[in-house]
Amino acid sequence: MGTARLPVSATSIKEDLNSFRIAMRQFDYAAEKCGLEPGLCEVLRRPRRALSLSLPVKMDDGSIRVFEGFRVQHNSARGPCKGGIRYHPNVTFDELKALAMWMTWKCAIVNIPFGGAKGGIVCDPHKLSRNELERLTRRYTYEISPLIGPDKDIPAPDVYTDAQVMAWIMDTYSMTHGSSAPGVVTGKPLFLGGSLGRNEATARGCLFVIRAACEVMGTKLNEATVAIQGFGNAGSIAARLLSQDGAKIIAISDSRAGVLNHSGLTVPELVAYKAKTGSVANFPGSTAISNEAVLELQCDILIPAALENQITLQNAERVQARVVVEAANGPTTPDADLVLHNRGIMVIPDVLANAGGVTVSYFEWVQDLQELFWDEDDVNRRLERIMVKAFADVHATARKHNVEMRTGAYILAIDRVANAMRTRGIWP
Ligand code: GLU
Repeated sequence: MGTARLPVSATSIKEDLNSFRIAMRQFDYAAEKCGLEPGLCEVLRRPRRALSLSLPVKMDDGSIRVFEGFRVQHNSARGPCKGGIRYHPNVTFDELKALAMWMTWKCAIVNIPFGGAKGGIVCDPHKLSRNELERLTRRYTYEISPLIGPDKDIPAPDVYTDAQVMAWIMDTYSMTHGSSAPGVVTGKPLFLGGSLGRNEATARGCLFVIRAACEVMGTKLNEATVAIQGFGNAGSIAARLLSQDGAKIIAISDSRAGVLNHSGLTVPELVAYKAKTGSVANFPGSTAISNEAVLELQCDILIPAALENQITLQNAERVQARVVVEAANGPTTPDADLVLHNRGIMVIPDVLANAGGVTVSYFEWVQDLQELFWDEDDVNRRLERIMVKAFADVHATARKHNVEMRTGAYILAIDRVANAMRTRGIWP
């Protein structure tokens, strides 16, 4: 590991938490390590194209509100662009540029034939009625429809979007194009061309890389303790799958509260409790713990499964896990990365750890195009093969270049994307 990125002491500098600058910093470091030529470096530092949108929506009370939306395509050298759509009040253009770039690396690491994209709308979906959400989604889809399509750019769920939102996207695109196009979006309901196993795919992918990491570290998963920040699609299903493998889930937090039980939380009961009450708060048999304290617990495996910039210079010294598995996108800052590395904590980076989601999105797209659907065992077996191989590839690349896993993952991805670009050439 070079010293160029060494952080000054946590108190002496203010960390730059802008996601796009973070993504560029990670990229620059890896690009230098693998000697990427300056021309391609310049191309890959920027998104290929982006749409910025004003989305007028007629609200239930008859008023009109204008929402801000975006779709960013980072790169399509290896295939159509791919990436989710998030609905969140704090969405920014820079964040989506970072997330689109991360999708390019993610798809390259698991070696599926896609480039990277991301979209989002600045809104709080919990404060919109179902009808307002539908009108907003349809207007957004209409506005991005020049960019998307089964062979151009294929959206998917992300933070606070789900199978219903994907169904509206599929319907709007299909109605305006005159034929049914299930391959335009993934993460759809099963009966509309969705794939078995897609809902669990991000968490199942995490499970496969965690098993691989345990092997490398000589740890037994059925003796491991786990803390999880975030109880959405990734966090809650990861908790269930890991506890089925015998791991002890000692703490879980959601956006409102956290719960702790050193003898292990009973995950199915916690899932049912959250479904009933809307939060994990006051789960019987647990004590309260803050969202921040979950990250600092003594445990073997820490899974940040919420949003960006959770492990920073402010708390990296206090992380006590042996391995951090990034189910969320961008939860660890570059300075925190270095602190964790220097303290001997392994970080399985987002672009590898959560790539199970987009991998099964790829399977869904393939099934839609073939109009032939697979059973769940088939999906899970193929996912396992891809995740195990991706972990091994990243681990080997990191060893070869004597860098941590994130930089190893970037070097592997940059190499694959740059190779495609060199071979295709720059048009015209
Ligand atoms: N939003 C997910 C991610 O960040 C899935 C993207 C997809 O399936 O296209 O990887």
